Amino acid sequence: MFDYLAHPLLTGLRSQLLCGAGVGEPNPAATTASSDGSQTECLQAMLAKVAEVDGRGLDDSHRLEALEWLERLKSAAAAAQARVTVQFKASQIDKQRAEGVPVKQLGRGLSAQVALARRDSPFRAARLVGLAEALVREMPETLTALTRGDTSEWRATLVVRETACLRSEHRSAVDAELGSRLPDFGDRRTEAEARRCAYRLDPHAATRRAAAAAADRRVSLRPAPDVMSKLSALLPVKQGVAAYAALRLAADSARAAGDPRTRGQVMADELVRRVTGQSEADDVPIEIQLVMTDVALFDGDAEPAVIPGFGPVPAPTARSWVHGKGADPAASQAESSEARRWLRRLYCRPDTGELVAMESHRRCFPERLRRLLVARDELCRMPWCEAPIRHADHVVPFGDGAPTRVANGQGLCESCNHSKQAPGWISVRHADGSITVTTPSGKTYSSRPRPLPGGRRGWDRRGGRAPT
Ligand SMILES: [Zn+2]
Repeated sequence: MFDYLAHPLLTGLRSQLLCGAGVGEPNPAATTASSDGSQTECLQAMLAKVAEVDGRGLDDSHRLEALEWLERLKSAAAAAQARVTVQFKASQIDKQRAEGVPVKQLGRGLSAQVALARRDSPFRAARLVGLAEALVREMPETLTALTRGDTSEWRATLVVRETACLRSEHRSAVDAELGSRLPDFGDRRTEAEARRCAYRLDPHAATRRAAAAAADRRVSLRPAPDVMSKLSALLPVKQGVAAYAALRLAADSARAAGDPRTRGQVMADELVRRVTGQSEADDVPIEIQLVMTDVALFDGDAEPAVIPGFGPVPAPTARSWVHGKGADPAASQAESSEARRWLRRLYCRPDTGELVAMESHRRCFPERLRRLLVARDELCRMPWCEAPIRHADHVVPFGDGAPTRVANGQGLCESCNHSKQAPGWISVRHADGSITVTTPSGKTYSSRPRPLPGGRRGWDRRGGRAPT
């Protein structure tokens, strides 16, 4: 054990760590013993203290000690977040129960509040709430290791994940067995040891786990460098292997017949061809929505275009898709005229960068209005969520007399839309397009509209072309 008292900076760090996270004497009761103010003040002081740390004036030995303490601090903070989360969840559920929320809906909007506080997506926050519950209620040894900074949040997550299918008493047994050994384990050993214990305690759990995992099958799309994308599928192993083998077979046959493409290229083309039903991979019939400025489209301006839900695309690439020049001639020929007509209506206003408004008297957003919203917001508007948009939502509910128009609309993911409908959530849209969300706990968060191609910043950068 190193001597952390050797330097005043480290002593300061350590004292802040002890004050905030209870290292050395983990004591869950401490969270209720002191007043609300002193705990958050202490955390603010800790943040200020950490901000002073830059390693200057330390010798290298102390720099390494500083690195270790900072690492421990992150773990201790994660443990404290777990304890606080469990307290928050219990209190929120008590409150909802008292308000008469039906049993089935208890806890709705809870992860969303945690997500906002942690500046993370509701999807990840739901996992963090599960992690917190498991650590605090079933895995005290792992929580202690985390609190002391002897393991990381990710390793604690691995222990929880690998024991997720076990009954509570088995999980506690794994915790008792592994807890004190966690400081010696890296990521791989933590995962392997937790899995080994779990398999030994309940050999049938793996089978049940496989069944549960199959329900989690999905397809996802992520941007990749160089205007490429990564389409991936999480599949049960038999289906994954079968799909891959079918593509391999197609590639081998094509190459045996003299196809000059590489095996990888044939497999990729074949995947697109079979999924979209097109004879050629480039003939993708699905409309690709592009948001770009008129000057970028017609005058060769460099302002990147945006594909809603995907991200920026270099202007020359976007132009080649629209005009049918350059690398992508087949795609432009196959693109439907409907898609192009719609594309032309999506010009941004040059002065504000806002998309043009449309209005409807219907309760639901009609398809075109919905598409405009998706193009404008691109990703779920809940701060830090950034999941793909699934719902066109009224910021102020239609039932409260608010109109169905773009100015009162926002794109939300399914989870955020459900959270927003839980009691106590209030959303307000402001003239500048920002949306303020107030949670049932009275916390307020703001989401600004994302900058669109040709928004004010883009025009300023091009050297003072006056907004019209
Ligand atoms: Zn969302």
